[in-house]
Amino acid sequence: MGERVQKALIIGGGFAGMTAALQLQAQGISVELVETDAGWRSYGAGISLNGATLRVIRQLGLLDQFLAAGAATDGVHMRAPNDMIVAELPTPRVAGPDVPGSAGIMRPALARILSDAVRAAGIKLRLGQSFTDITETADAVRVTFTDGTADSYDMVVGADGVYSAVRKALFPSAPQPQFVGQSVWRAVLPRPAEISTVTMWMGPKLKVGLNLVGAEETYLFLTEDRPTNDFVAPETQLATLKGLLAQFGSPIVRQLGADLHEGSQIVYRPLEQLLLPRPWYRGRVVLIGDAVHSTTPHLAAGACIGIEDAVVLAEEIARAPDLTAALDAYQNRRWERCRMVVENSAKLAQIEITGGSREEHAAIMKQSMISLAQPI
Ligand SMILES: Cc1cc2nc3c(=O)[nH]c(=O)nc-3n(C[C@H](O)[C@H](O)[C@H](O)COP(=O)(O)OP(=O)(O)OC[C@H]3O[C@@H](n4cnc5c(N)ncnc54)[C@H](O)[C@@H]3O)c2cc1C
Repeated sequence: MGERVQKALIIGGGFAGMTAALQLQAQGISVELVETDAGWRSYGAGISLNGATLRVIRQLGLLDQFLAAGAATDGVHMRAPNDMIVAELPTPRVAGPDVPGSAGIMRPALARILSDAVRAAGIKLRLGQSFTDITETADAVRVTFTDGTADSYDMVVGADGVYSAVRKALFPSAPQPQFVGQSVWRAVLPRPAEISTVTMWMGPKLKVGLNLVGAEETYLFLTEDRPTNDFVAPETQLATLKGLLAQFGSPIVRQLGADLHEGSQIVYRPLEQLLLPRPWYRGRVVLIGDAVHSTTPHLAAGACIGIEDAVVLAEEIARAPDLTAALDAYQNRRWERCRMVVENSAKLAQIEITGGSREEHAAIMKQSMISLAQPI
């Protein structure tokens, strides 16, 4: 596999896949992207991002658009039940001295920024399609699509998320995502006047937080320990989330509970994790993003490491002598950082589930932030 990659297929148009498409096309590679959702929508409420994510968004040339659509602030405020700020955790300005160290944006807004860039770059899109077969030949990968057409590529990138079909095709006995014993509730609410940056209240077992996703709106997240990942009927969700918020003594949190209504975009999701041991590629097919490392959101870094994967993959494709060397270098550059995010996020979840040491929780957060600030 000594020749240069000239034609690549990305399977999955999430944050990781869109970034890979952009970065590879920018090198002169002819890129196609296949996305199963015909509307190419991004679901869910807001998304919290750390300074390292802003660094990689800046590297993509999309920071101004991001800042116009979302919000960036410094530090995390920890508040006591009476709403007094009891601790201020620093968030390093990883993207540069002029960019705050933490951010929030509505998921569809971030997806739109990336998908607009993909369309503007002229990347060929196959929306509403997937693959039915991937077969490696002597000098290419032959992919058959659900519309019955087929084509050959020098490289295929599987960026199809936590339940990746590409991962299953490549590694049928790979581990499956595991429920961690905790779920997250999310909602979008008007910004309370007292809130100026990411803010959290730690209950004995519940944690609730707010993050700004624009000038006027905040995204609320609440983690709850649950022994099983049972379905929660949508018609019960508003009352259940109000009940959970009522368990907090904080007047701000109680007001949020009172303000919640049917239109608050409530999303309930059991938390799962997956860390695929290396290899992350076979032959000419490579996996990136949640397909190889799906983390719980405790470090607000899932999107970050997926986007970074795409950047690193493109860098290694550009400089390695051949494809195998590039894919090997990619997985080895990414492994330790992604392992740290998945495992430290899981440790934070366990401390919250068991009502464990707040000091240990803060120490893991701080150490992880320092690690994430390191160059990729
Ligand atoms: C509840 C929750 C909260 C989170 N909060 C945060 C947060 O605050 N901050 C953060 O940084 N991260 C957060 N994350 C993690 C973050 O959302 C993910 O890490 C990130 O979205 C992964 O991006 P991805 O592109 O790898 O996968 P995905 O976003 O899952 O994208 C995969 C894409 O592939 C498409 N697809 C799937 N199968 C196929 C197929 N067979 N063929 C073609 N297309 C296919 C899908 O439609 C989708 O568009 C959270 C995750 C969860 C579950």
